Amino acid sequence: MFAWIDDDLEERRRRGLYRVRRRLQSGQAVHIRLGGRELINFSSNDYLALAGDARLARAAAAAARRYGCGAGASPLVSGYSPPLRALERALAAWEGTEAALVFSSGYAANLALIRSLAGPGDAVFSDALNHASLIDGCRLSRAAVYVYRHNDADHLADLLRKQGRSARRRLIVSDTVFSMDGDIAPLGQLVELAECFDCLLVIDEAHATGVLGEHGRGVTESLRPGPWSPERVFKVGTLSKALGTQGGFVCGPRRLIAWLINQARPYIFSTALAPPTAAAARRAVAVVQQEPERRRRILALAEQLRRELREIGGNIGDSCCQIVPLIVGEAQQAVRLSRRLEEQGLLVPAIRPPSVPEGSARLRFSVTAAHTETDVKRVVEVLRGKIPMRSIV
Ligand code: PLP
Repeated sequence: MFAWIDDDLEERRRRGLYRVRRRLQSGQAVHIRLGGRELINFSSNDYLALAGDARLARAAAAAARRYGCGAGASPLVSGYSPPLRALERALAAWEGTEAALVFSSGYAANLALIRSLAGPGDAVFSDALNHASLIDGCRLSRAAVYVYRHNDADHLADLLRKQGRSARRRLIVSDTVFSMDGDIAPLGQLVELAECFDCLLVIDEAHATGVLGEHGRGVTESLRPGPWSPERVFKVGTLSKALGTQGGFVCGPRRLIAWLINQARPYIFSTALAPPTAAAARRAVAVVQQEPERRRRILALAEQLRRELREIGGNIGDSCCQIVPLIVGEAQQAVRLSRRLEEQGLLVPAIRPPSVPEGSARLRFSVTAAHTETDVKRVVEVLRGKIPMRSIV
């Protein structure tokens, strides 16, 4: 009866694409216990090392005692708890927007936002390497979707010229930091094109929130005021990565937030974020504002890793932030290198298709505020002389 499933899984095994979950035997941190071994963790999106922070744990515990562990209902019924409201206000104040709306995941936030801004008769223009949640939001919208080459503003302009004219509304959608490459979208150009072709622009700061920008608000901080309307730009962030907790958020004008509350299905038909999580995330927002040295440290360590990987012949693509890929080509090769690192006590995941295009399998290093210069040097020592010829630049 399930021969088709068996065949598919077998094919995945054969191609080195079969996925398993590994059992974590410790908390999320830079030193973890996995499969019975202590490992230095280069696989986590806990960039600011806040997931295990005692201040967040205390905030969560206090909220659990006072408000319970679960929200119990959708925010539109009775799940809109005091910690959740306080979190939304803190996010809006930090981001400098009129309002913010918190979802139970960044994934849900992206689905909700895109589905709410675009529908049949509209056109969505999406970067080829956008995250799956943006892609799924585009599909769910039932708008016509046009995929432009990764970070290629000329290709986007061309598509807007050829395909955008007859659409009712036009939406450009992009990650700011791309999660498998660590490169950054040409945001200034996207904003200009949005203005020129009368588009809305959705940008996903999931990997930039808390890490990039002077105040940790992400790549949008680098946008200069200009002849473009901030009303066109809709920003998504996640609480699940640098903020060390769980959930996603959209920030923007009050009327957008009211619109989402009234018609975004992933918001209306899903239980609100749990009070302890909301309280911990609010504490994390305060830490991000008070401790800028954390993000400076991450970026300096990532720069060291890039420099040293380049010195041993590694292809690190266009990485320029805390995510550093080492592109090796074939999936099996990436898996072999990942295993070798693990034998030496270093956890660096192999990223394979379909997460990245065929032939560009890689190791993905995620540098956090809790890593040290010595951790970085250890990685490079293990890899020295073992990087396949095809990855040499
Ligand atoms: N957006 C991007 C760019 C991501 O990388 C991710 C998660 O991997 C998400 C959104 C989804 O966020 P969450 O994990 O909070 O659902």
